[in-house]
Amino acid sequence: MGELTRRAILLAGGGIVGGIAGAKLTSNRPSLAGTTLLQPTGAEGTLNDASLLSETKIFRHSIAIENPTEVLADKIRAEITEARESGRPFNVGAARHSMGGHAIPANGHAMTFDNGFTQMTPGNETYRVHAGARWGEVIRALDPLGLGPKVMQSNNDFGVAATFCVNAHGWPVPHGPMGATVRSIFMVRPDGELVRCSRTENAPLFFATMGGYGLTGAIIELEVEAVPNLNLEPTFRKMPARDFAQFFIGAIDSGEVNMAYGRLNVDRDTFFEDAMMITYRAAADQTEIPPASGSGTLSQLSRHVFRAQVANEPAKDLRWWFETGLGPLIASGPVTRNSLINEPVVTLDDNDPTRTDILHEYFVPPGRFSDFIEACQEVIPSSYQELLNITLRYVGGDAESVLNYAPAPRIACVMLFSQEMTQRAEIDHERMTQALIDRILDMGGTYYLPYRPHATQEQFRRAYPSAEKFVEEKKFYDPDLVFRNGFWDRYLADMT
Ligand SMILES: Cc1cc2nc3c(=O)[nH]c(=O)nc-3n(C[C@H](O)[C@H](O)[C@H](O)COP(=O)(O)OP(=O)(O)OC[C@H]3O[C@@H](n4cnc5c(N)ncnc54)[C@H](O)[C@@H]3O)c2cc1C
Repeated sequence: MGELTRRAILLAGGGIVGGIAGAKLTSNRPSLAGTTLLQPTGAEGTLNDASLLSETKIFRHSIAIENPTEVLADKIRAEITEARESGRPFNVGAARHSMGGHAIPANGHAMTFDNGFTQMTPGNETYRVHAGARWGEVIRALDPLGLGPKVMQSNNDFGVAATFCVNAHGWPVPHGPMGATVRSIFMVRPDGELVRCSRTENAPLFFATMGGYGLTGAIIELEVEAVPNLNLEPTFRKMPARDFAQFFIGAIDSGEVNMAYGRLNVDRDTFFEDAMMITYRAAADQTEIPPASGSGTLSQLSRHVFRAQVANEPAKDLRWWFETGLGPLIASGPVTRNSLINEPVVTLDDNDPTRTDILHEYFVPPGRFSDFIEACQEVIPSSYQELLNITLRYVGGDAESVLNYAPAPRIACVMLFSQEMTQRAEIDHERMTQALIDRILDMGGTYYLPYRPHATQEQFRRAYPSAEKFVEEKKFYDPDLVFRNGFWDRYLADMT
């Protein structure tokens, strides 16, 4: 059985067993009769994102695959000039997986970057990469050299500059967000100038652009740190959910762990009572490191199984039984670091046109983790929403980005909900999200920005107290406010 295949079973967390159960047990999906559906039209002249709920009319959508730098810069300048002269917004996106129109300029000029250029720099410590390269392409370039990305998201489909612009994080430990691994960027400022930014050159622009959701200019190239690829061996540990933070932080502080994550059970009856911690340490044998694997047939099968959990409590129980019992037995062998992060989003894809996957993420101070559990137990199971998975990760403190979500180390709690695409579900999801955010802000935690724009304006300001500073800096670089998108329109435009 291939390495990635083993991980895929864990990821879907219910493989074959859940599949059988899913087929046998009845799903209690509510009837859609009489509901107001929220289906995208897919009409020409519109753009959407991974939520499928952000369909927005745009003026033009162009794809940018150009290299070298100057050619791409000219293309961007032409688009900026036209947008400015006609009073329209301009914005760049990559894989469009952010879920609140963060890469969509309403009635404006949208550009999608798509170019896989990756090249090592002398010494092999860093690599130069096109802003639009997807992580799968980066891994393909680095893996044969025995190297891999230092920090990226859990899936490999996202754009590298986009990752910098949301300042995403993953599960390699003990690192902070990905921005910390970027040495420098080349970007076209809103005034058309091509500038290099780093911690020592145009530093304020570098830190505003890191996690700045594409509002300060268009990045065209980055220099990013690489790390050696390794053979890793997993360890699995079951525990009561309330004890998770203590064990998790202890494992990371030991300095021996290379990758780490946790899971909680999601059935409504015993919601978030049990936890599973999975840590990966360097294997004793590093003599032969196999190439990064791709997604196997079983991953595709697991996807169907994952879906059996929707409105199906016995399937959620079975998946948890599998994840904590059979899964560790199947997934106990060595696996390479690159294989673990080389998983495409499609593994989890939902082919049901009446539902969509909505992610949430909360950053919780480790000392308040049991309060987080309690808040979730009170808010989520009583809602109409179907939580299919929660993954717990570690993210180190970030003292650099302006829109900073982890001023100190945090436990990052990533939730995947399957949402019915109806007005009633949307209203309920917003209500539930706002209730969760209030509770988590009271704990000194925060919520992640690239997902549905359900937080209130007041919650946003509380969660991101430096938002006004960010707006001031953006206006300094972009006084005509040419770079705008759904995130700007929803949360920042009112602060100008
Ligand atoms: C299934 C799934 C799993 C995820 N897992 C994780 C995870 O493990 N960790 C995590 O932190 N996040 C995670 N996310 C969130 C994800 O990291 C962000 O949504 C990320 O932005 C997605 O990359 P993208 O290429 O789709 O970006 P897009 O949505 O296309 O763009 C994101 C932002 O970057 C800006 N941007 C993009 N390219 C440029 C550029 N060249 N110049 C200037 N601005 C630019 C856009 O304007 C936009 O504001 C996940 C999301 C999904 C849907």
